Amino acid sequence: MADEKETMVEGSFRDKKMGGKRQSFKKKVCKFCAQKTEPDYKNPEQLRRCVTERGKILPARITGTCAKHQRALTQEVKRARVLAYLPFDRK
Ligand SMILES: [Zn+2]
Repeated sequence: MADEKETMVEGSFRDKKMGGKRQSFKKKVCKFCAQKTEPDYKNPEQLRRCVTERGKILPARITGTCAKHQRALTQEVKRARVLAYLPFDRK
């Protein structure tokens, strides 16, 4: 005869951990705004900081570029690619 006892666990506690540390993020400032420059296809060194080695454009969240300049940047990078200042995405 098996005597099975079911242990009832009542009152599931949800421990609320208050006061969690928020990751202190560095406030990124758009480099174009900071330097008061605009993305320029004639300045490939400037653009190169915003693309990967493979030539992919880094997202604005990583570089901290503001939306306005990110748009301009993509345009300029594309121009720079056509003019062979920057590589196309290599596979
Ligand atoms: Zn900006």
